[in-house]
Amino acid sequence: MWPRAADAHLFQEQTMGTSYHITVVGKLSPAEKAQIQQSISEELEKIDEQMSTYREDSDIMVFNRYQQAESLPLPPALIDVVAISQEISEMSGGAFDITVSPLVNAWGFGPEKKFDQKPREPSELELVDLRKHVGYQKLIVDRSTHTLKKLHPQVTLDLSAIAPGYAVDQIADVLLKRGYQDFLVEIGGEVRSQGRNAEGKYWRIGIEQPLEHQREIYEVVALENEALATSGDYRNYFEADGQRHSHTIDPRTGRPILHSLTSVTVVTQDAARADALATAILVLGPKEGYDFALRNQIAALLIERTPQGLSEQITPAFARLRKRSN
Ligand code: FAD
Repeated sequence: MWPRAADAHLFQEQTMGTSYHITVVGKLSPAEKAQIQQSISEELEKIDEQMSTYREDSDIMVFNRYQQAESLPLPPALIDVVAISQEISEMSGGAFDITVSPLVNAWGFGPEKKFDQKPREPSELELVDLRKHVGYQKLIVDRSTHTLKKLHPQVTLDLSAIAPGYAVDQIADVLLKRGYQDFLVEIGGEVRSQGRNAEGKYWRIGIEQPLEHQREIYEVVALENEALATSGDYRNYFEADGQRHSHTIDPRTGRPILHSLTSVTVVTQDAARADALATAILVLGPKEGYDFALRNQIAALLIERTPQGLSEQITPAFARLRKRSN
C-alpha cells in the first residue's frame, strides 16, 4: 500500500544565499530523520567549502587567486562541475561560460556587489580589457588527475549557474545510496524528482510566471525521475535607458542579455545540466536558443516578453512532457 500524505517529510533550510526544500516519502523514525538532515547539511557544507565564491576560504577562491601556469589539484567534485560546465560551453558555442565573473562583477552583479552599490555600465575599454581573461577555452580541466589549469593568470571561476543544480544531484545521490526511492530535492528553484509523491503519483512541479514582484504558476509538469531548472531575467536585473540589464551575461559580447526572452525552463536527467542548459539557452536568445534546444533534443520551454504579452515556444520533447502531465 502507498504511504499516506502524513508520511512525507520536509527538510528545509537556507543554503548558498537561497533555500532548499527536500521531501522524502516513507515511514521515517526520528533517528532516520536526524540522519537525513545531517547528510544533507554535510553535503551542502562540503559543496559550499569547495564551490562558493561568497567565501574567501573555498577551494574555488584558492583557484581564483592562483596565478601560476602549472595545474592545480582540486577536489574531485569541483573538477566534476567544471568538466560538465566545459561540456555545456562547447555545446553552446560559449554562451555558457564559468569564466564570466569579471564581467558579472563589472556590471554590478555577483559576490563583489556592495549592499548600497548602484548598478553601473562599464566602458567599452573596460569590457575589452576584462574579456582578455574571460573564455572557457582558457581553462584546461583534467578529470583523471583532478587538476585544473589556467591559460591566463587572471582567469577565475563562477559556478553560480550550475553548482546549485549540481548540489541537487549530489543530495539525490546521497538519498538513493541511503535506500530512499521517493523524494524531491529543490535548491533555489532547481529540482530533481525520484519515484513518486505521498499520493503515489509522479511529482508535479509548478513553473513560475516570469513576473518580478509576484509568484504565480505558469504551468505544472509531472517529472518522472527527472530534473527541472529555470533561468530568467525577471528577478535579478536593473533598468537603464528603458532597457533591462540582466545578471545573465552574454560572454560573446561581454554585455547582459538584452533580447526579449525572459524565461527558459529545461527538463533533463540531471539538475546540473538542466541548470546550465537553461542559462545557455537564455543567453542564446529566442531564435538561436530554440534552435539549440531542438538540435540537442532538449525538453525546453522558452517564454518571451512581447508587446502583446507573454509568448511561448516549446520543443517537441517539452510538448511530450506537457501532454504526459495533463
Ligand atoms: P542563474 O540564472 O542560474 O545564473 C546566473 C548567475 O550565473 C549570474 O549571477 C552569474 O554569476 C552567472 N552567469 C551569468 N552569465 C553566465 C553565463 N553566460 N554563463 C555561466 N554563468 C553565468 N549567493 C548569495 O547571495 N550569498 C551566498 O552566500 C551564496 N553562496 C553560494 C554558494 C555556492 C556554493 C554557490 C554555487 C552559489 C552561492 N550563491 C550565493 C549564489 C546563488 O546561490 C545563485 O547561484 C546566484 O544568485 C544565481 O542564481 P540564479 O538561479 O538566480 O541564476
